Formats: sequence, structure tokens, C-alpha cells
Amino acid sequence: MKWHRTKIPQTRNSLPENGIYNKKYTNKHGLEKGGKPFSIGSLLSFLSNRHLLGIRIIRQKDGTVTEAKASWPGIIDEMTFARTQERLAKNKNRAKPEDWKTYSFPLTELVQCGECGKPRGGKSGTGQNRKHLYYGHPQIKNPFSRDHKPHACKVKNVLALRLEDLVTKSLQKLLDDPNLLNEWIEIYQRKAESELPQVQSEQKRLDQEQLTTTKRISNLVQRVADLPPEIPADAFYEQIKQLNQKLGELKAAKENLKTKSLDLESQAIDKEGLKFKIRRTLANLADAPKDQQKPIFRNLVKFIEINPTKLKLGLYAPTQLKATGTDGQPTSGSQDFSNFSEISER
Ligand SMILES: [Zn+2]
Repeated sequence: MKWHRTKIPQTRNSLPENGIYNKKYTNKHGLEKGGKPFSIGSLLSFLSNRHLLGIRIIRQKDGTVTEAKASWPGIIDEMTFARTQERLAKNKNRAKPEDWKTYSFPLTELVQCGECGKPRGGKSGTGQNRKHLYYGHPQIKNPFSRDHKPHACKVKNVLALRLEDLVTKSLQKLLDDPNLLNEWIEIYQRKAESELPQVQSEQKRLDQEQLTTTKRISNLVQRVADLPPEIPADAFYEQIKQLNQKLGELKAAKENLKTKSLDLESQAIDKEGLKFKIRRTLANLADAPKDQQKPIFRNLVKFIEINPTKLKLGLYAPTQLKATGTDGQPTSGSQDFSNFSEISER
């Protein structure tokens, strides 16, 4: 095997085919360990280990390291060992693009796992010969659980450049295929129509709760007023304070729902506006260096959900008033809007 001429990952992959595995041993609990394929890391430390030369490394307590002839014979000669170290050092110093070190991951915070909903952040992993940049799946690490098994989601890591490319291509497809855009808009409208009754009944429920809370507050106030002077009113004040806080929260929630139902009732996706926005986004992305793409993506894309064979893209689409007697003037509104985008090529 001319392993010193090839790359480490290839060498590593070819070892099991040649019947080569790492050291097999029995640990102190009597369990058989090892005998597995080399990992890149273990292969590297093996290749740079002077034990191969029949040399023993002795580490003194004061930190100094000395070498001695080992009881085992060397299995390779000095020359081969030196050339190997030279090759490994060259691999390590192979030119790396500057932006690998400071890659800005323009899709960070937008990417989530379609299977478990967890966000995926930008990560970099160092292989032997190159650095991989990817949007990785967070591992399940619960310190209180004895269960340290990794997550079961199918899509683990997605290379950063590939995902960025897929998102851009999906957006371009929306522009190129008018049927696709119409389909997305139809799905949105069907969803909006089915959502409206829910929102309205939730509004009614909050109205009722606000009424009850207000009544309870005024009852408590009345009781405090009627209280004989020798009885402390602290407990009543505390209750009133809590109910007032709840009232504030109810009002905020109602305000939210009101905006939502108004949007659902009166706003429609402004198709031409959306096309314009996508076109402008793509043009801006094409002009911008990576480290400036994040705000450009975020202006249009709300989320990117990664599924095994599909991406689900959520977009912020411009809206206009539904043409019911109005002139359909676009407003400054914006609606969340999402659909699946098939991943076709690998
Ligand atoms: Zn997941």
C-alpha cells in the first residue's frame, strides 16, 4: 500500500478492506475493546507515533521527555517515518481559504430541523485535509439524563455552501416557474381561511376572561373598602396586584390577535410585490460578499426547515388589501408564508 502518497481519509477507508483494524484489547472490566476501523484521528496519531521505530517515549515527572530503545523491534525504518511526518505536515499546512476561519454562516438562526424543530447553527469541523463548514444538528446532551444517545433525526449536518446554494436556487425557481408561486400563494390562502375562525373564537375567549378579571378586581376593591380598620388588607392588595398584571397580559394578547385577524381578513399576498422582493434579494445576494448576506437573507426568509428530501422555506411576503371595493393599493403589511421546496439534485 502506498499510503504515504494518498490522502488520509482514503487511506483510512482502505484499511478495513485490507483487514487492518486498530488494536484489540481487554479492559480492566474484562470487556473486549478495539478491533474497530481506525478513525482519522487514531490513524494520524498512529502514523506519527515513534513506537513504530521501536522507540519508547519516557515522560519524566518534571515534564521532560526522553527516548529509549524499546523492547519491541521497529516495524518501519527512519527514512519512511521521516517522509511520513513530512507528508502529514504538508497536508496540515495545505492552503486554506482565508474565510474558512471567519465564515459568517449567513443562514444562522434561520435554519431548523424539520424532524424535531431544533435550531441548527453554523459549525465548522476540521477534517485532516480540509475544514468542513456546515449547519449542524445540535446533539442531545442532557446532563441529568443517563441517556447520551445522539438524536435520531435523519439529516445530520448540511454543508453550508450547499444549503446556501439550495435556498438561493429555490428562490430562483419561484421566479422562473409562475405555477409554483401560484401554488404557494393558494396554500397560504387556504391556510389563512381555515385559521380565521380559530383566531376569532380565541378572541371571544379572551374578551370573556378580561370581563371576569375586571369584575374580580372591582369586587376585591369593594371588600377592601368595607374592611373593618383593625383587619390588615395586605392579602387583598396582593391579589389585586396579581389580577391587574393578568389583565395587562390579556390586553396584550388581545391586541396581537386583533392584528392577526385583521391581516387574515383583509390582506392578500401581493404576488408582484413578492416577485419583486425575491428578484431584488437574489440580485443583492449576488453582489454581496458572504459576511454581508445575513441581513439580505433575513429580510425575505423567515425560516429554513431541513427535511430529508425537502426544504421548507418560510418567507416574509408583501401583502396588499384584498380587492373588495378598494383600489388594491399595496400596504406596508407583511405575511408569513411558507411551503416545501423539493431538493432535486445532490
Ligand atoms: Zn432534529
